Order: sequence, then structure tokens, then C-alpha cells
Amino acid sequence: MSSPIAKNLASIQEQVNRACDSVQRNPAEITLVAVSKTFSVVDIQAAYDLGLRDFGESKAQELQTKVHHLPNDINWHFIGTLQSNKAKHVAEMSTTIHTIENERQLREIDKQDRTIDGFIQVNIASESQKSGILIESLDTVLSYVLTSHQVRFLGLMTIGPPVQNPEESRPYFRKLAELNQQANGTMLSMGMSNDFDVAIQEGATHIRVGSALFGKR
Ligand SMILES: *Cc1c(COP(=O)(O)O)cnc(C)c1O
Repeated sequence: MSSPIAKNLASIQEQVNRACDSVQRNPAEITLVAVSKTFSVVDIQAAYDLGLRDFGESKAQELQTKVHHLPNDINWHFIGTLQSNKAKHVAEMSTTIHTIENERQLREIDKQDRTIDGFIQVNIASESQKSGILIESLDTVLSYVLTSHQVRFLGLMTIGPPVQNPEESRPYFRKLAELNQQANGTMLSMGMSNDFDVAIQEGATHIRVGSALFGKR
């Protein structure tokens, strides 16, 4: 009997392959970011043993604990709200930050000496109370990112509005892909457990999948 995580991973990979086939993309273009926030070091180690190397965390303290207890060839993706007073420390522990949205974060990231990859988080549906920048601010924030010494700009990221049917996410993903092209982004972070296949069809290169892999939080 294979473990629940192994079964889940197999079915995610099958879904990724199917989504890629449907739009003639190569599955090798897709990075599965296993969103491990709230899950234990044991669960993460199990996913690691199945071959995963990219994990997503949303809190600085939790990330720090996990970094110390897990293998050092893991690529840690920071996907939570990034307080500027923690940005330097988060950058020291991460390979990629998906949630850049202001100049203060960048100034803090630039104070440490590692080069990291960065996505700008966009609030694509202009939802109130949602993190990420509004589309109108993209040019300004992009100019800060492009002048950062330590952040290599990859592209845009979004958390779409909650949907019942994954098809409802498509227009938002399509819009983000368009903006990403205008911004000369080469990577695109979008799609979660319930809609990553639609995100892949719309051009995602990084899908952030938590509950479909590890189970309910
Ligand atoms: C929690 C989280 C995810 C994963 O959500 P699931 O629905 O569990 O796949 C993806 N992206 C971000 C930014 C998150 O906070």
C-alpha cells in the first residue's frame, strides 16, 4: 500500500500531464510547489522522499523551524504576506518569494547577500482585504523590483478569488498571463489545489498545491 501522500502526488502528476497535453505544453515546464504550511516536518520529509524539492510556506517562524529540520537541498518558496521587518530574514532562508508588493520589502531583501527569485503578487480581481497589488500599481512596483540588487524578477503571482468551479478562475488567470507578458515575466505563479489544471492551460509555470497533496488543513 502506498501512502496517502504518494497516491495524491501520483494523481496530481497525472492531472498536470493531462492539462499540459491539452495545450501542447511540456510538463517539465511546471514546478509543483508543495504548499506545506501547517503540515509537519514528517509529512514534508515524506513528500521529499517521493522526489519533491519545492515547498511553500507562509510564515517566517514556521519556515525557520522547518528549514532547520529538513534537508538543505529544498527550495523554499515564501508564499505568505511578507512583512517588511521580516523580509531580510525570509530572503536568507528562501530561494523564491512569491509575494513581493512594495518597495520597503525590497530594501530589506537587498540588505542580505543572497540572490533570490521574486514574483510580484497581483490582486487580480481587485478584491477588498486581499493582499497583492492592484493592476494600476504594477508599473511602479515592477520598476522597484527591476532595480533591486538581490531579487531576480520571474513574473507575476496571484491567488484567484474563491470559486466553486475551476472554470471560473480562467478569466483571472488569462488576465494575469497577459499582464505577465507585458511585464516581460518569464514565469507565472498561479493555480492551487482546486484549479491548477486550468492555471496550467493558461500558462502557469509554478502551481502551488497544498491540500490536494497533504490532505485537509
Ligand atoms: C495555502 C496556499 C496555497 C495552497 O492552497 P491549497 O488550496 O491547499 O492548495 C497556495 N497559495 C497560497 C498563497 C496559499 O496561501
